[in-house]
Amino acid sequence: MKTEPTRRTSAAKRAQEAVFRGIPIGAGVAIGTVFDTTEAPAEAPRRNISPPEVEAERQSLARAVAISRKQVGKLRNRLSILPEEAQEELAPLLDAYLMMLADSRLLRGARKRIETELLAAETAVHDEAEAIAAIILTAKDDDKAGLRRRASEVREIGRRLTRNLTQNPFRSFKDVPEGAILLADELTPADAALLDPSRIAGVATEEGGADGHTAIMLRALGIPSVLGCHGLTEAAQPGDHVVLDGTAGTVVLRPGPEALVVGKAALAAFARERVKLGKLRRLPSETTDGELVELQANLEIPAELPLIAQAGAQGIGLLRTEFLFMNREDLPDEDAQYVSYAQVVAAMAGDSVTIRVLDWGGEKDIQALADGVAPLHTGPNPALGLRGIRMLLKRPELLEVQFAAILRVGAEVGPVRILLPMVTVPDEVAQAREIMERVARRLRRRGVTLPEKLPPLGAMIETPGAALAADAIALEADFFAIGTNDLAMYTLAVDRAEVEVAHLYDPLHPAVLRLVQFATEAALRLRLPVSLCGEMAGNARLTPLLLGLGLRTLSMNASAIPRVKQVVRGLDIGDCARLARRVMEQVEPRRIAELVEGFVPGARN
Ligand code: PEP
Ligand code: MG
Repeated sequence: MKTEPTRRTSAAKRAQEAVFRGIPIGAGVAIGTVFDTTEAPAEAPRRNISPPEVEAERQSLARAVAISRKQVGKLRNRLSILPEEAQEELAPLLDAYLMMLADSRLLRGARKRIETELLAAETAVHDEAEAIAAIILTAKDDDKAGLRRRASEVREIGRRLTRNLTQNPFRSFKDVPEGAILLADELTPADAALLDPSRIAGVATEEGGADGHTAIMLRALGIPSVLGCHGLTEAAQPGDHVVLDGTAGTVVLRPGPEALVVGKAALAAFARERVKLGKLRRLPSETTDGELVELQANLEIPAELPLIAQAGAQGIGLLRTEFLFMNREDLPDEDAQYVSYAQVVAAMAGDSVTIRVLDWGGEKDIQALADGVAPLHTGPNPALGLRGIRMLLKRPELLEVQFAAILRVGAEVGPVRILLPMVTVPDEVAQAREIMERVARRLRRRGVTLPEKLPPLGAMIETPGAALAADAIALEADFFAIGTNDLAMYTLAVDRAEVEVAHLYDPLHPAVLRLVQFATEAALRLRLPVSLCGEMAGNARLTPLLLGLGLRTLSMNASAIPRVKQVVRGLDIGDCARLARRVMEQVEPRRIAELVEGFVPGARN
């Protein structure tokens, strides 16, 4: 077989520096040691089952096989973008994995062990993989290295199956050593919510898109991150050194002396820039011609609160409440929600907090709703299914609990606004308002004192339908928050978290900008407060364009606020309006990007 020499060469190569490019998620530079979450976790504890559980374990195994096939299939599809030698090495390996995930001896044996030995699926897979590996290793064959390789392939597939069998959304990252760089095939938003930014120096994954919720979480936590790094996890080994640049979108494995020097310099430059920007905290966010621009923070998890305070945010423009529902098997009750919202509202000391009710669906993984205490199914196309307000109106009891907690916080702790996700028709706002009023009446009957005027109820404008019907939605809503992450996804039919189409995801596409402009102008005409809270808002290069389109409130991840403020303070609104006019005349996304990049404040652009 020719695979052996190839492997030997590649073993030598594995000691060498290797550079990977992915999607820059930001937050600076990290230098550390690989911690590979795709590596086998400690063996799953052995589990026996009773006869009535056999069918469920067989089904779990079938599900894990399907997931594993999908994962390996994805890796296989991506090979074409790797250098030829890497393809030659990896293709036979991945093909062997796929064969083992078809009707192989490993799967047949594992199923049999579930049935006859009454073993849990992960224990059955482990035992069968070990039994096959032992048979391979004792075979009469001179090619001992080949035998060892084949045995390790069986074990590897056994481990992949075990990971998919035992992994639940409550993956723990507690064992990650301090200062480690986390590598993973994929990190879900629920996983990201468990990361401790004080321990983890950086994150790099194979999957993911620039504005997916995982990316948003990582930005929010201020963890230097690069997503969509093809081939990285295959090439990395635990303990490898890494230089990760979240701004440039590069990951250098086993950096040589030069790459280390460059990495250290970038790290120091980032720290200096942060100190410099920190000095802007107390200065007003005002253009050179005196226009005030409100810079608010998006908040994903309460751990971000200190960062928000440091950044000098003028309130919270988007509190995503999904975190409260993640990584648990039950649903948070009214009091638990109250405590959580109250903590945030109190910390903002009188600045308004816009709390968005649960936006379940799409890539957001909420166990209790997916298959837990209140199961809901989104159908074959979750992004187009029962997402956001659609789900809440179908299950009003969820909305009622959330409204009750928010109304109490608004009455007792500080100013709040309530935001509805994924609105597409005005009636959804009207129905939600009725529910809010019903909840208010119920609270008053319970003795809770609420002001006569309930908090403003706003609509996310994040689908093309909502943007184009913004004037109609404005008749029902008290304010708009334009969500360009979903707006770009739905307008361009490009999944925001899907690495394969990440190159097509472009909020500067004229179609997206026209919708932003249309919705903003409708709001301004009707004197409805409007903000933009998609990831675009935190990109300082886009600030002149967004102000030129008429926006005066931007809500972004807290760490972006100082940089955006610095840009605002150098801008003239007339220049911004001229830039926006020129941009809106263009039809080519590339030309728009050039105009935006080439904009120089104060120059005749
Ligand atoms: C958006 O879609 O732009 C948005 C802000 O909401 P989320 O990212 O939570 O979907
Ligand atoms: Mg959205």
